[in-house]
Amino acid sequence: MGHTDTSTKAAAQLALLVEYFVELRASSPGGGRRSPTRSIENTAPLNVATLSHIHASVREIREYVDIESPGTVEPLPKDPAGVYDWCIRNTEHDDEAVKRRRDTIIYRQYLEHAIEAGDDKVVRHHRCPGCGTVGLHWKSGSAVCRKRDCLTPDGLRPKWTLAHLAAEYIADQEKRSRRAT
Ligand SMILES: [Zn+2]
Repeated sequence: MGHTDTSTKAAAQLALLVEYFVELRASSPGGGRRSPTRSIENTAPLNVATLSHIHASVREIREYVDIESPGTVEPLPKDPAGVYDWCIRNTEHDDEAVKRRRDTIIYRQYLEHAIEAGDDKVVRHHRCPGCGTVGLHWKSGSAVCRKRDCLTPDGLRPKWTLAHLAAEYIADQEKRSRRAT
């Protein structure tokens, strides 16, 4: 799986959030029968948390491109889900480290969007970075390993951030694609 799959997954998950958000407005009392718009600018803040999540995600991607590819002239797409392809297009000629960080951010956002949409089972497909066991659980804002003997030096259950899981995932993907070539 390369960066294209990762960005497709992230875009699909973000589109789902936007869709959910637009649907809420379309079906709300007094919302009227307006055709759903893919632009989030003129959407009433019915679900403020989701809206700010979408905005923060797009902003993070835009800022990454601003910093790493300051010469970018292509405007940000209107459709929030288009932001990942936009980011990839505009960092295409950057070095591998920039692309790796980019892919890690995109994958982390994919996980965040899934959790925002209520699908916290998304972390279960990941191996615990501590013991390598698949089947992490999402609990109070972190991924937790449930293996009995997987403990920190202080005897606590290790907790992993989505950023950590994303970094491990992208590193693993790179290893696989190197082996495949
Ligand atoms: Zn573990």
